[in-house]
Amino acid sequence: MRWDPDPAAAAALETLGDTVRITVVEGIPIALPYRRAPKFASGSVGSADNVLVRVHTDAGLVGQAEAQPRPYTYGESQTSIVEAVSGQLSEALAGVDPLRVELVAQCCAGVAGNRVARGAVDLAVWDLVGQVLGCPCHTLLGGFADDVAAAHMVSFADPAAMADEAVSVNDELGVNTFKVKVGRAPALDVAAVRAIRDALPDADLYVDANRGWSYEDAVRAGDQLAELGVRAIEEPIAVEDRAGRMRLADRWTVPLVGDESCISLAHVESALEEGAVRMVSVKTARTGFTESRRIVDLCLARHVSIVVGSQYEGAIGASATVAFAAAFAATAGHPAEITNFLDLADDLVVTAPEIRDGRVLVPAAPGLGIDIDEDRLARYRLDR
Ligand SMILES: [Mg+2]
Repeated sequence: MRWDPDPAAAAALETLGDTVRITVVEGIPIALPYRRAPKFASGSVGSADNVLVRVHTDAGLVGQAEAQPRPYTYGESQTSIVEAVSGQLSEALAGVDPLRVELVAQCCAGVAGNRVARGAVDLAVWDLVGQVLGCPCHTLLGGFADDVAAAHMVSFADPAAMADEAVSVNDELGVNTFKVKVGRAPALDVAAVRAIRDALPDADLYVDANRGWSYEDAVRAGDQLAELGVRAIEEPIAVEDRAGRMRLADRWTVPLVGDESCISLAHVESALEEGAVRMVSVKTARTGFTESRRIVDLCLARHVSIVVGSQYEGAIGASATVAFAAAFAATAGHPAEITNFLDLADDLVVTAPEIRDGRVLVPAAPGLGIDIDEDRLARYRLDR
């Protein structure tokens, strides 16, 4: 099936001079083993069945990024991401100069849906931009800081095990900010947060229910969690229950964080217009760099704070997240969800992001600074 490009993008393509050109975009399905598998209210993950995205050029440079399928949030599977990346998106970008990131975005915008696939392609193109210009992505995006404080997400387990995980991450990495997954029974959720609070009295805690509570459970759990010093509550109930979200936002003194309700620039605009969301989770894994920075600008204009979120990325995704989080004044001052690549038992990269005293350093190499170990890629790829 041939994809018809956007007319404006096609016209712009006609005028391009001799530069680096994208030749083909490749989606490689991989499965990485976990040592600590993510579990949360909207789903769980047995192995990291991700997609390595490679944007090839006629200059031999290859931009790389990682996509994490989350079918229960976006409807995309590993198979659909591979097909969108290697099919429509590859066709859409053939011949495009990667430095023209707005043209890249325009070409990809013609492919509806497929947010995670498009987000990863956008990140891989930015990796190329950095390689062409010899500049790290975080500098290209704004370069505000050289590191950012890390937040760690604590998945479902029994409360004592969740507290043990938080303590070990605190001990080993110096991380003192934790997003605790809730959205089970209120008593269990409160017990889990209380166990972490007792083990780490000074920890900075917020929670994410992934829409798992009923309205009544959200009232019961949220009130008690606020008393335990939880500073924000992410997606307590169904996104479609707009009246319920408004009532919760009015009831709680802590902000309601928009995540599944804020999956694109247009969704963020709607959520802020509606009024329940007072903090927005920005994830480069679904909106790349190009749309994510538009979301940051929108939040700045509305005086809404931002948390740079995670989809339990591997080290490749974490490299993009830290580059973005450190790039802007609006994001660099808040802990970003970066550490969960350490939940994997193995990864594709030669060097993973470095975490020191609770902070993650931005990659210093051009682009995203990703160096793939080809032997490990051969071991974990599913298409050969
Ligand atoms: Mg979330």
